[in-house]
Amino acid sequence: MRGVTFADILTARRRIGGAVRRTPLAFSDSLSERCGVPVHLKFEHHQITGAFKLRGATNAILAMDDAARAAGVAAASTGNHGRGVAHAAKVAGARAIVCLSRLVPKNKVEAIEALGAEVRITGASQDEAQAEVDRLVAEEGMTMISPFEDPYVIAGQGTLGLEIVEDLPEAETVLVPLSGGGLISGIAIAVKTALPKARVVGLTMEHGAAMHASLKAGHPVEVEEVPTLADSLGGGIGLDNVHTFSTVRELVDDVVLLSEEEIAEGIRHAYWKERQVVEGAAAVGIAALLTGRIEARGPTAALLSGCNIDMEVHRRLVSGEMVRAGEAA
Ligand SMILES: *Cc1c(COP(=O)(O)O)cnc(C)c1O
Repeated sequence: MRGVTFADILTARRRIGGAVRRTPLAFSDSLSERCGVPVHLKFEHHQITGAFKLRGATNAILAMDDAARAAGVAAASTGNHGRGVAHAAKVAGARAIVCLSRLVPKNKVEAIEALGAEVRITGASQDEAQAEVDRLVAEEGMTMISPFEDPYVIAGQGTLGLEIVEDLPEAETVLVPLSGGGLISGIAIAVKTALPKARVVGLTMEHGAAMHASLKAGHPVEVEEVPTLADSLGGGIGLDNVHTFSTVRELVDDVVLLSEEEIAEGIRHAYWKERQVVEGAAAVGIAALLTGRIEARGPTAALLSGCNIDMEVHRRLVSGEMVRAGEAA
């Protein structure tokens, strides 16, 4: 299968332009002063649904033909991907079913229903919810929208890279949160095409980082999932990964790991110095700059990928408390 190209990302931008926000790139006084290079923050946490996943989901759904769209789409995500698929399907006029396990809290179920999707509660685990998605695909002709293993999703996330290089054509470093790698794959294809010398760095939590472990092993591997403040970065890359693993290996210059305390500091800095509410997954770029885990080099853009954090956890963190992930849900 052919990889995603720069042209695919330009096509994605035309396709999704009316349905997603073009988010601002804001100069950060405090981080620039601290790092000695101009640092800009990409405010993608201001995206509709509170995270970038809307871009990829919208591109995938709008690219479907009428028959497929009429049959509808399915996903098994409690988080930002589920919200993105629900909202994108509503805008595209497609039926969406989000499959969740019985363990998912009621407020999350209601949030996805409020975005216009049907919620189907099945089984006692994420795997059983995924089994229902597989059944909907096999028996009812629905289309599964993957959170990262899909060329249309990757191209949709890549539109963020276009916006970054347009707003900061002198960028030398681009910092991107990393989990399944759909986000950084799309961004790296856009950035490396427009600015071949720019460095693209992935940032993730130190425990349970599947892409990092896979890069080290030289092939996709499974890792044990560990609760983290960067909950949107949890989960595996799939042992049968064909898209993001090879793209990340080819185009991403470095992957940097952050501790829970460092991620908490990133959330606190975003709030007190930048006046922004971000979730843990979105705070990793700031965290890496604050701790010096990444050497600041040239004009830098750090992507703030989402804002969907439990506000009580957020309140405690910015009040100076340390909250262990999984302790409060
Ligand atoms: C999904 C997600 C990521 C990671 O994106 P991948 O494509 O899985 O690497 C980062 N931040 C937020 C807020 C997310 O929801």
